[in-house]
Amino acid sequence: MAKTEQKTGRNSGQTVNILLAVICIVLCALSIYFYRACDSLNTAVLSDDAELSELLAIYDEKSAELAEVTETREAFNDLDGKIAEIKEVYFKNAVKAEELARSGNADFKVCYLTFDDGPYVATTPLFLDVLEEYDVQATFFCLAKEGLDDLYKREKMNCHTIGNHTASHTIRYVYSSIDTFIKDLEENREFIQNLLGITTDVMRFPGGSPQITYSGLNRTKMIERIQELHYGYIDWTLMTGDGGGPYFMTPDEFLHNVVDYSADYDVISVLMHDYSNNTLACLPEMIEILKEQGYIFLPLSYDAPIVKKE
Ligand SMILES: [Zn+2]
Repeated sequence: MAKTEQKTGRNSGQTVNILLAVICIVLCALSIYFYRACDSLNTAVLSDDAELSELLAIYDEKSAELAEVTETREAFNDLDGKIAEIKEVYFKNAVKAEELARSGNADFKVCYLTFDDGPYVATTPLFLDVLEEYDVQATFFCLAKEGLDDLYKREKMNCHTIGNHTASHTIRYVYSSIDTFIKDLEENREFIQNLLGITTDVMRFPGGSPQITYSGLNRTKMIERIQELHYGYIDWTLMTGDGGGPYFMTPDEFLHNVVDYSADYDVISVLMHDYSNNTLACLPEMIEILKEQGYIFLPLSYDAPIVKKE
Protein backbone atom coordinates (compact mmCIF):
# COMPACT_ATOMS: atom_id res chain seq x y z
CA MET A 1 0.00 0.00 0.00
CA ALA A 2 2.76 2.39 0.97
CA LYS A 3 4.69 1.38 -2.18
CA THR A 4 1.67 2.10 -4.36
CA GLU A 5 1.20 5.52 -2.81
CA GLN A 6 4.93 6.21 -3.25
CA LYS A 7 4.66 5.22 -6.96
CA THR A 8 1.59 7.39 -7.47
CA GLY A 9 3.40 10.33 -5.85
CA ARG A 10 6.41 9.86 -8.19
CA ASN A 11 4.10 9.77 -11.21
CA SER A 12 2.43 13.03 -10.15
CA GLY A 13 5.86 14.66 -9.77
CA GLN A 14 6.86 13.65 -13.26
CA THR A 15 3.60 15.01 -14.71
CA VAL A 16 4.25 18.38 -13.04
CA ASN A 17 7.81 18.41 -14.38
CA ILE A 18 6.61 17.66 -17.89
CA LEU A 19 3.97 20.35 -17.56
CA LEU A 20 6.56 22.87 -16.37
CA ALA A 21 8.84 21.92 -19.25
CA VAL A 22 6.00 22.43 -21.74
CA ILE A 23 5.19 25.80 -20.19
CA CYS A 24 8.88 26.76 -20.41
CA ILE A 25 9.04 25.78 -24.06
CA VAL A 26 5.84 27.71 -24.86
CA LEU A 27 7.14 30.79 -22.99
CA CYS A 28 10.45 30.58 -24.83
CA ALA A 29 8.67 30.27 -28.14
CA LEU A 30 6.44 33.25 -27.30
CA SER A 31 9.48 35.28 -26.18
CA ILE A 32 11.27 34.59 -29.44
CA TYR A 33 8.12 35.39 -31.42
CA PHE A 34 7.57 38.71 -29.59
CA TYR A 35 11.24 39.61 -29.83
CA ARG A 36 11.17 39.07 -33.59
CA ALA A 37 7.86 40.97 -33.93
CA CYS A 38 9.28 43.93 -31.98
CA ASP A 39 12.46 43.90 -33.99
CA SER A 40 10.63 44.00 -37.32
CA LEU A 41 8.36 46.74 -35.95
CA ASN A 42 11.41 48.82 -34.96
CA THR A 43 12.95 48.29 -38.37
CA ALA A 44 9.69 49.38 -40.03
CA VAL A 45 9.46 52.52 -37.88
CA LEU A 46 13.08 53.41 -38.54
CA SER A 47 12.56 52.87 -42.24
CA ASP A 48 9.41 55.05 -42.15
CA ASP A 49 11.40 57.77 -40.37
CA ALA A 50 13.96 57.78 -43.17
CA GLU A 51 11.26 58.00 -45.80
CA LEU A 52 9.48 60.74 -43.86
CA SER A 53 12.69 62.78 -43.63
CA GLU A 54 13.19 62.34 -47.34
CA LEU A 55 9.60 63.42 -48.05
CA LEU A 56 9.96 66.46 -45.80
CA ALA A 57 13.14 67.47 -47.64
CA ILE A 58 11.33 67.17 -50.98
CA TYR A 59 8.39 69.16 -49.56
CA ASP A 60 10.74 71.96 -48.44
CA GLU A 61 12.44 71.99 -51.80
CA LYS A 62 9.13 72.11 -53.70
CA SER A 63 7.77 74.82 -51.37
CA ALA A 64 10.81 76.97 -52.15
CA GLU A 65 10.31 76.37 -55.88
CA LEU A 66 6.61 77.28 -55.58
CA ALA A 67 7.44 80.50 -53.73
CA GLU A 68 9.92 81.41 -56.45
CA VAL A 69 7.43 80.66 -59.25
CA THR A 70 4.69 82.63 -57.44
CA GLU A 71 7.03 85.59 -57.04
CA THR A 72 7.94 85.46 -60.75
CA ARG A 73 4.27 85.19 -61.72
CA GLU A 74 3.40 88.19 -59.55
CA ALA A 75 6.22 90.13 -61.20
CA PHE A 76 4.73 89.24 -64.59
CA ASN A 77 1.26 90.23 -63.40
CA ASP A 78 2.70 93.64 -62.57
CA LEU A 79 4.75 93.86 -65.77
CA ASP A 80 2.72 96.83 -67.02
CA GLY A 81 3.27 98.57 -63.69
CA LYS A 82 7.02 97.99 -63.88
CA ILE A 83 7.17 99.20 -67.51
CA ALA A 84 5.19 102.31 -66.50
CA GLU A 85 7.73 103.02 -63.70
CA ILE A 86 10.68 102.67 -66.08
CA LYS A 87 8.97 104.82 -68.73
CA GLU A 88 8.28 107.55 -66.18
CA VAL A 89 11.96 107.77 -65.23
CA TYR A 90 13.02 107.52 -68.89
CA PHE A 91 10.74 110.36 -70.04
CA LYS A 92 11.69 112.58 -67.08
CA ASN A 93 15.30 112.27 -68.26
CA ALA A 94 14.23 112.84 -71.89
CA VAL A 95 12.51 116.10 -70.85
CA LYS A 96 15.68 117.18 -69.00
CA ALA A 97 17.76 116.31 -72.07
CA GLU A 98 15.59 118.52 -74.29
CA GLU A 99 15.71 121.39 -71.77
CA LEU A 100 19.49 121.08 -71.58
CA ALA A 101 19.82 121.03 -75.40
CA ARG A 102 17.62 124.14 -75.59
CA SER A 103 19.74 125.93 -72.97
CA GLY A 104 22.78 125.61 -75.23
CA ASN A 105 24.78 124.13 -72.36
CA ALA A 106 24.73 120.58 -73.70
CA ASP A 107 27.20 118.90 -75.98
CA PHE A 108 24.29 117.26 -77.81
CA LYS A 109 21.16 118.23 -79.71
CA VAL A 110 17.76 116.50 -79.61
CA CYS A 111 15.93 115.07 -82.63
CA TYR A 112 12.39 113.67 -82.63
CA LEU A 113 11.85 111.53 -85.71
CA THR A 114 8.12 111.28 -86.46
CA PHE A 115 6.22 109.07 -88.91
CA ASP A 116 2.61 109.89 -89.77
CA ASP A 117 -0.48 108.13 -91.11
CA GLY A 118 0.58 104.50 -90.48
CA PRO A 119 0.91 101.76 -89.91
CA TYR A 120 1.37 100.30 -93.40
CA VAL A 121 1.61 96.56 -93.86
CA ALA A 122 4.31 96.65 -96.57
CA THR A 123 6.61 99.44 -95.39
CA THR A 124 6.21 100.02 -91.64
CA PRO A 125 8.16 96.83 -90.73
CA LEU A 126 11.06 98.06 -92.90
CA PHE A 127 11.13 101.42 -91.08
CA LEU A 128 11.05 99.57 -87.75
CA ASP A 129 13.99 97.42 -88.93
CA VAL A 130 16.10 100.52 -89.70
CA LEU A 131 15.26 102.14 -86.36
CA GLU A 132 16.07 98.89 -84.57
CA GLU A 133 19.38 98.55 -86.41
CA TYR A 134 20.41 102.07 -85.32
CA ASP A 135 18.86 101.63 -81.84
CA VAL A 136 16.82 104.78 -82.33
CA GLN A 137 13.40 105.51 -80.79
CA ALA A 138 10.89 107.59 -82.72
CA THR A 139 7.21 108.57 -82.66
CA PHE A 140 4.50 107.06 -84.86
CA PHE A 141 1.42 109.24 -85.29
CA CYS A 142 -1.00 106.44 -86.06
CA LEU A 143 -4.53 106.22 -87.42
CA ALA A 144 -7.05 103.53 -86.43
CA LYS A 145 -6.49 100.69 -88.89
CA GLU A 146 -8.01 97.24 -88.54
CA GLY A 147 -6.01 94.06 -89.10
CA LEU A 148 -2.57 95.55 -88.37
CA ASP A 149 -2.42 94.71 -84.66
CA ASP A 150 1.07 93.23 -84.89
CA LEU A 151 2.51 96.45 -86.31
CA TYR A 152 1.04 98.63 -83.55
CA LYS A 153 2.31 96.10 -81.01
CA ARG A 154 5.82 96.06 -82.50
CA GLU A 155 5.94 99.86 -82.43
CA LYS A 156 5.03 99.73 -78.74
CA MET A 157 7.44 96.86 -77.93
CA ASN A 158 10.31 98.69 -79.66
CA CYS A 159 9.68 101.60 -77.24
CA HIS A 160 8.52 104.08 -79.85
CA THR A 161 5.84 106.55 -78.84
CA ILE A 162 2.40 105.99 -80.35
CA GLY A 163 0.87 109.39 -81.11
CA ASN A 164 -2.71 110.17 -82.08
CA HIS A 165 -3.33 111.46 -85.64
CA THR A 166 -7.14 110.96 -85.55
CA ALA A 167 -8.87 107.71 -86.48
CA SER A 168 -9.81 108.52 -90.08
CA HIS A 169 -7.52 111.42 -91.18
CA THR A 170 -10.26 112.41 -93.65
CA ILE A 171 -9.54 116.15 -93.77
CA ARG A 172 -13.00 117.31 -94.93
CA TYR A 173 -14.75 115.13 -92.37
CA VAL A 174 -12.56 115.68 -89.31
CA TYR A 175 -12.43 119.45 -89.77
CA SER A 176 -16.17 119.77 -90.49
CA SER A 177 -16.62 120.90 -86.84
CA ILE A 178 -14.70 120.89 -83.59
CA ASP A 179 -17.07 118.25 -82.19
CA THR A 180 -16.48 116.00 -85.20
CA PHE A 181 -12.72 116.44 -84.83
CA ILE A 182 -12.80 115.56 -81.13
CA LYS A 183 -15.02 112.54 -81.82
CA ASP A 184 -12.57 111.19 -84.41
CA LEU A 185 -9.57 111.93 -82.18
CA GLU A 186 -11.16 110.15 -79.20
CA GLU A 187 -12.19 107.21 -81.37
CA ASN A 188 -8.51 106.70 -82.20
CA ARG A 189 -7.52 107.05 -78.54
CA GLU A 190 -10.02 104.33 -77.65
CA PHE A 191 -8.82 102.12 -80.53
CA ILE A 192 -5.18 102.33 -79.36
CA GLN A 193 -6.19 102.00 -75.70
CA ASN A 194 -8.07 98.78 -76.44
CA LEU A 195 -5.28 97.37 -78.57
CA LEU A 196 -2.17 98.38 -76.60
CA GLY A 197 -3.42 99.44 -73.17
CA ILE A 198 -1.85 102.88 -73.51
CA THR A 199 -3.54 106.28 -73.50
CA THR A 200 -2.28 108.53 -76.27
CA ASP A 201 -1.63 112.08 -75.05
CA VAL A 202 0.56 113.48 -77.83
CA MET A 203 -1.31 114.28 -81.04
CA ARG A 204 -0.65 115.79 -84.44
CA PHE A 205 -3.39 117.54 -86.42
CA PRO A 206 -3.83 116.01 -89.88
CA GLY A 207 -2.20 118.57 -92.19
CA GLY A 208 -0.65 120.26 -89.12
CA SER A 209 -2.29 122.74 -86.71
CA PRO A 210 -2.63 125.50 -89.40
CA GLN A 211 -5.24 123.20 -91.00
CA ILE A 212 -7.66 124.17 -88.16
CA THR A 213 -7.79 127.76 -89.40
CA TYR A 214 -7.65 126.75 -93.10
CA SER A 215 -10.79 124.71 -92.44
CA GLY A 216 -12.60 127.74 -90.96
CA LEU A 217 -12.57 126.47 -87.37
CA ASN A 218 -11.64 128.46 -84.26
CA ARG A 219 -8.09 127.51 -83.38
CA THR A 220 -8.26 128.72 -79.75
CA LYS A 221 -11.43 126.74 -79.04
CA MET A 222 -10.00 123.64 -80.72
CA ILE A 223 -6.82 123.82 -78.62
CA GLU A 224 -8.91 124.33 -75.45
CA ARG A 225 -10.93 121.22 -76.26
CA ILE A 226 -7.88 118.99 -76.81
CA GLN A 227 -6.27 120.37 -73.64
CA GLU A 228 -9.37 119.47 -71.64
CA LEU A 229 -8.81 115.90 -72.82
CA HIS A 230 -5.13 116.07 -71.80
CA TYR A 231 -3.53 116.17 -75.25
CA GLY A 232 -0.43 118.10 -76.22
CA TYR A 233 0.22 118.64 -79.93
CA ILE A 234 3.20 119.05 -82.19
CA ASP A 235 3.77 120.24 -85.75
CA TRP A 236 7.30 119.85 -87.20
CA THR A 237 10.59 121.68 -87.70
CA LEU A 238 11.79 119.95 -90.88
CA MET A 239 10.39 117.38 -93.30
CA THR A 240 11.68 115.13 -96.04
CA GLY A 241 8.82 116.27 -98.28
CA ASP A 242 7.20 112.86 -98.62
CA GLY A 243 3.78 114.12 -97.49
CA GLY A 244 2.34 115.14 -100.81
CA GLY A 245 4.60 117.83 -102.32
CA PRO A 246 6.54 117.16 -105.50
CA TYR A 247 6.61 113.38 -105.86
CA PHE A 248 9.52 113.47 -108.29
CA MET A 249 12.00 114.17 -105.46
CA THR A 250 14.68 111.53 -105.06
CA PRO A 251 15.80 109.95 -101.76
CA ASP A 252 18.87 112.19 -101.91
CA GLU A 253 16.69 115.31 -102.14
CA PHE A 254 14.58 114.05 -99.23
CA LEU A 255 17.77 113.62 -97.23
CA HIS A 256 19.02 117.12 -98.00
CA ASN A 257 15.64 118.67 -97.14
CA VAL A 258 16.50 117.62 -93.57
CA VAL A 259 20.25 117.50 -93.06
CA ASP A 260 21.04 120.76 -94.90
CA TYR A 261 19.02 122.68 -92.29
CA SER A 262 19.25 120.58 -89.13
CA ALA A 263 22.67 121.94 -88.13
CA ASP A 264 21.02 125.31 -87.37
CA TYR A 265 18.89 123.93 -84.53
CA ASP A 266 19.37 122.49 -81.04
CA VAL A 267 16.00 120.66 -81.01
CA ILE A 268 14.13 119.44 -84.09
CA SER A 269 11.16 117.29 -85.03
CA VAL A 270 11.27 115.72 -88.48
CA LEU A 271 8.03 114.94 -90.32
CA MET A 272 8.05 111.77 -92.41
CA HIS A 273 5.58 109.08 -93.48
CA ASP A 274 6.17 105.37 -93.08
CA TYR A 275 4.62 104.67 -96.50
CA SER A 276 7.41 106.42 -98.42
CA ASN A 277 10.02 104.18 -100.00
CA ASN A 278 12.19 107.22 -100.76
CA THR A 279 12.17 108.26 -97.11
CA LEU A 280 13.00 104.67 -96.19
CA ALA A 281 15.91 104.72 -98.63
CA CYS A 282 17.46 107.86 -97.12
CA LEU A 283 16.66 107.16 -93.45
CA PRO A 284 19.89 105.31 -92.54
CA GLU A 285 22.09 108.08 -93.97
CA MET A 286 19.88 110.74 -92.34
CA ILE A 287 20.36 109.11 -88.93
CA GLU A 288 24.12 108.88 -89.47
CA ILE A 289 24.48 112.53 -90.54
CA LEU A 290 22.26 113.78 -87.70
CA LYS A 291 24.39 111.78 -85.26
CA GLU A 292 27.52 113.41 -86.70
CA GLN A 293 25.83 116.79 -86.16
CA GLY A 294 25.51 115.88 -82.47
CA TYR A 295 21.88 114.77 -82.37
CA ILE A 296 20.47 112.16 -80.02
CA PHE A 297 17.08 110.65 -80.88
CA LEU A 298 14.17 110.62 -78.43
CA PRO A 299 10.54 109.49 -78.59
CA LEU A 300 8.00 112.19 -77.74
CA SER A 301 6.12 112.45 -74.47
CA TYR A 302 3.39 114.81 -73.29
CA ASP A 303 5.88 116.63 -71.03
CA ALA A 304 8.50 117.19 -73.74
CA PRO A 305 8.89 120.99 -74.09
CA ILE A 306 8.51 120.70 -77.88
CA VAL A 307 4.96 119.36 -77.35
CA LYS A 308 2.63 122.38 -77.22
CA LYS A 309 -0.07 122.69 -74.59
CA GLU A 310 -1.58 125.99 -75.75
ZN1 LIG B 1 -1.12 112.91 -91.76
